[in-house]
Amino acid sequence: MKKYLKNKTKKIRPYQICVRCVMDTSDPWIEFDSKGVCNHCKAYSQKNFKSEDSIKEKKEDLEEMFDGIKKLRDKKTKYDVAIGISGGVDSSYVTYLANKAGLKVLAIHMDNCWDTATAIKNINNLISLKNVDYYCEVVNWKNFKSSQRILIESGLPDIELPTDSAITAVISRVAVKHGIKTILSGGNYSSEGILPSAWMYNPKDSLFIRSIFKKAGKSTAIFKAFKFGLRDDFKFRFLHKIKTLYPLNSVIYDKEKAKNHLKRELNWQSYGGKHCECLYTKFCQLIYQPMRHGMDYRRAHLSTDICNSRISRQEAINILKVSPWENLDLENELSFIANKLGYEVSELKNIMKEPRLWYKDYSNNEFLLGKIYNLYRFLTGRPLAKSWWG
Ligand SMILES: [Zn+2]
Repeated sequence: MKKYLKNKTKKIRPYQICVRCVMDTSDPWIEFDSKGVCNHCKAYSQKNFKSEDSIKEKKEDLEEMFDGIKKLRDKKTKYDVAIGISGGVDSSYVTYLANKAGLKVLAIHMDNCWDTATAIKNINNLISLKNVDYYCEVVNWKNFKSSQRILIESGLPDIELPTDSAITAVISRVAVKHGIKTILSGGNYSSEGILPSAWMYNPKDSLFIRSIFKKAGKSTAIFKAFKFGLRDDFKFRFLHKIKTLYPLNSVIYDKEKAKNHLKRELNWQSYGGKHCECLYTKFCQLIYQPMRHGMDYRRAHLSTDICNSRISRQEAINILKVSPWENLDLENELSFIANKLGYEVSELKNIMKEPRLWYKDYSNNEFLLGKIYNLYRFLTGRPLAKSWWG
């Protein structure tokens, strides 16, 4: 193993599944207590509030959040908030709620050239709302494609890293340009509260990005426009004083009800699985990750559903018995992805058979960033977190 790889991945451990949720050893660093309950559902139940009594309280939370944003209005800024939109349910619902509350919204879309037709239709319906303006930035496809190829050849599970990083980079740049002080995110505990760090490490770690590109023998120059590192984050928070808020954590967020609501109000259309508004995400979550890393995103989402009593553990187990790619035309999907990324189908299939690696196998600043972000949390009176982005 060369020096940029740290070879820290633990040896394969015996299979174990949580007795409360359905998280299992497909997360290589999952921890179980003596009763067989995993660290994910334990941490989730400490964070989440779902009692009926809290519904009214949560509505007031949201009103308070939106009223607070309105109070920040001044003549210099045209918009109250920026919202990154993908055409997916979470960001669409946040835009809908903000618009309904009378906020002036700049909806920002980072087009990574993988949007589905349904996502584009949903975006068009959303931006037809009064007081919602739209900005779309299309990535430099040549550089973006090269970055996606580097990730897919890195052996890491999170081949969506260029997209995740570029979304933050674009939204932040545009918010700064327009003097917007608040970003509303569709991120939420209700549907995304459980997500192992092994499956998705944070792209703000510049050392990690550099080590991936170094292994590929490529300069990070092609990644520059998509990068959003620690320095950018701190400039964004302290110099530009921009806050990111999560409205869906201030309501009892039921995704199915939100979808129905959007369908009725905005002719919003469903696109299948979670985050399948993007063709590459669909490939990543339904084919690449399950086949190459043995991990199934549905497992994390279903575990969150179990914790919220939306589904029984047995129902979740039954769903997971069917492979994620069951209803897909696999050859057709692989051919489309290979062709777009400039691979032969056989090349892509061979890449997917190569050894799996995890972020701890690459140089990273997890320890240092953990200290820095916890110091920031301490100084701003927030609870300390186990992972630096948590
Ligand atoms: Zn669990």
